[in-house]
Amino acid sequence: APLAGPVPTRTTCPYCGVGCGVLATPDGKGGAAIAGDPDHPANRGRLCSKGSALGETLGLGTRVLHPLKRSARGTYDRVSWEEALDAVAAGLKAIIDRDGPESVALYLSGQLLTEDYYVANKLMKGFIGSPHVDTNSRLCMASTVAGQRRVFGSDTVPGCYEDLDSADLIVLVGSNTAWCHPILFRRIQQNRAERGAKVVVIDPRVTATAEDADLTLALKPGSDSALFAGLLIHLADTGLLDHDYIERHVAGFEAALANARDIAPNLAAVANLTGLSKTDIASFYALWASTPAVVTAWSQGVNQSAQGTDKVAAILHCHLASGRIGRPGAGPFSLTGQPNAMGGREVGGLANMLAAHMGYSSAEIDRVRRFWRAPRMAQAEGLKAVAMMEAVTERRIKAMWVMATNPAVSLPRADAVQAALRGLDLFIVSENVLSNDTLAAGPHYILPAAAWGEKDGTVTNSERRISRQRGFLALPGEAKPDWWIICEVAERLGFEEAFDYGGPHEIYAEHAALSAFENAGSRDFDIGAHAELTRRAYDGLAPVQWPAPVDRPEGTPRLFADGGFFAADRKAKLQPLAIPALAAATSDTFPLLLNTGRVRDHWHTMTRTGLSARLSGHIAEPTVLVHPDDAARFGLAEKGFARIATTHGAVILKVALDPGAQPGSLFAPIHWSAENASGARVGAAVQPLVDPFSGQPELKATPAAIVPV
Ligand code: SF4
Repeated sequence: APLAGPVPTRTTCPYCGVGCGVLATPDGKGGAAIAGDPDHPANRGRLCSKGSALGETLGLGTRVLHPLKRSARGTYDRVSWEEALDAVAAGLKAIIDRDGPESVALYLSGQLLTEDYYVANKLMKGFIGSPHVDTNSRLCMASTVAGQRRVFGSDTVPGCYEDLDSADLIVLVGSNTAWCHPILFRRIQQNRAERGAKVVVIDPRVTATAEDADLTLALKPGSDSALFAGLLIHLADTGLLDHDYIERHVAGFEAALANARDIAPNLAAVANLTGLSKTDIASFYALWASTPAVVTAWSQGVNQSAQGTDKVAAILHCHLASGRIGRPGAGPFSLTGQPNAMGGREVGGLANMLAAHMGYSSAEIDRVRRFWRAPRMAQAEGLKAVAMMEAVTERRIKAMWVMATNPAVSLPRADAVQAALRGLDLFIVSENVLSNDTLAAGPHYILPAAAWGEKDGTVTNSERRISRQRGFLALPGEAKPDWWIICEVAERLGFEEAFDYGGPHEIYAEHAALSAFENAGSRDFDIGAHAELTRRAYDGLAPVQWPAPVDRPEGTPRLFADGGFFAADRKAKLQPLAIPALAAATSDTFPLLLNTGRVRDHWHTMTRTGLSARLSGHIAEPTVLVHPDDAARFGLAEKGFARIATTHGAVILKVALDPGAQPGSLFAPIHWSAENASGARVGAAVQPLVDPFSGQPELKATPAAIVPV
């Protein structure tokens, strides 16, 4: 008989929110062969360039492998786990005793697994009593969370990926799907090829996503809600509202329509606000209105905005008013950025949320307190990321623990963030890598965290599908899973009993039990079917879409086709929208708008993708994309260097001419940092202005100047 080959481990890609299934076959030498999992519903065996190169990113050359303590000279000494954990716990306790629980904060990441996230939130919000837990998801999905909670009453994505296969029209708003969610883009292309679906791309930049779109609407930055307010009016004026759905399931429709007429009373007003031609707008409205099976999907161009919550609401309004929600091929659909942005939302990773999608009402605080038997529950929402860093600057927060993220690159005013972190009384970082811009701020302790391929847990993708990440490599050096590190510190703070877990399966089961605790269908997030999960069942857990309550363990592909919103009256609530405007206007000094975003083959600050020569070869250096007219206006040459300055900072990047750029705007990638390309940390130049509801910063339109250097 033939010898059996090595058995691949079923796991999930650690990059984007598509959440593709991966088969990893270790080679016994620390590497692994990588293939797409044909049985995973998200990708059905496909992987994009980043996912398929995962095997090239498993080396240990850049890893932190032992706990490190900063010396008085600023160098780092290896210490034992005992010493590091004792010191971290003692340091936190001393600051809490001196300045109160609200003087300590956690800054987490959509790269963490749900189990890590759960215990971090439990420790801070239930046992230390500080609400100041926020996450880099604040930069990613916070406006969608706020928009969905305001309109639906819950943070619920109504549809699923199959809707992209069965829609007759797919509208992509503020999303370079071809580069940032490539496997979903391939599903859309397949739908086009096989079923003739139409695609409309709405984005100030003409990107790869628009290459074969049926209609491209390169609107003015920040004007999305005007376009969708106009669509609501068009639906009303052409008799294409779903009056029955509105009557039974929607509150506030007449007020929302009147508000839309205030914003954009007619086509000319929409054209004026968006900069689009009346012909293009009319074509879009006619196509949308005449296509029952329409999915409107959006990403960071909508979210990363000082009016992101309004933009989300404007899209939801159109789907609700036309009853195009929760049906096959129809619904609003948010494309999450990170691999576990959704899982973090589920466990209360955002400063304004408690675990299991509960908020800070007194009933919810009390429910979570009783479930956790928590001694010191946080009593009000905590500080969101930008405000949290301001509190660090002002020394209202004295201790911070950063896990699995690099805020000294990604947050607005990144230089100021780095300086603020330097001033903390106690600064702790849990990391995979030995050096990055956040580590350059000199944490007192660096704790070596397990990486993808080494750790076990769950993540949730954009369609609410929970998938297992499974380890297939031994833990290197003294690296440990994040949940273990947090629980060890919790035990040293005196909370042994509540953090005595035998493994991530026990944390997941507790998280599932909390989701079902006093729920009875009143809250959207319910995975009560997993509350009794054994280790064996957890190890074999197949991908499933929540809600998965006890009586529906197979999960739920779609919600809201027949209403059932998670509000007391079970109705969706349409919201008043502000007049569309950018957070800050251009001026003679800063005549351009700086937009930031991803390139195709890199992820975040490149700690993993930078290890693959193949991926680094796609775009090898940080470049600013400039329209040829602007290049001529400002004396810029292709491949020449330029300095981009704002009121907050400056970066120096190589110029690339891009006819797809909108005149008057610049596009710079987020991936490079002081660590990997001196002077190219674009976050240093980004303004810290945020959406009033979500706290998400406006990362897409900072007034800027550009000069050749
Ligand atoms: Fe990974 Fe996203 Fe690519 Fe899928 S589409 S392989 S999840 S990066």
